[in-house]
Amino acid sequence: MVAVRVVGVVKVVTLFLIGMIILAMLGRLRLPKFGSRNGRGRIKDARKCPKCGSYILHDGDCGCGAKK
Ligand SMILES: [Zn+2]
Repeated sequence: MVAVRVVGVVKVVTLFLIGMIILAMLGRLRLPKFGSRNGRGRIKDARKCPKCGSYILHDGDCGCGAKK
């Protein structure tokens, strides 16, 4: 009887772990897509430095030496 109970617990734990692995895989498959979309939108909205072409995140110079 004890062995049967242990096997049942092992099955439940195994199913739980498999469910967590599936959720983790789905999360890895979904998150990069949303991240790239958000990154593209931010890059489009961001301004570029007229001299070196790098993206300027905040108001001001980008650090390449270009001044207003
Ligand atoms: Zn620059």
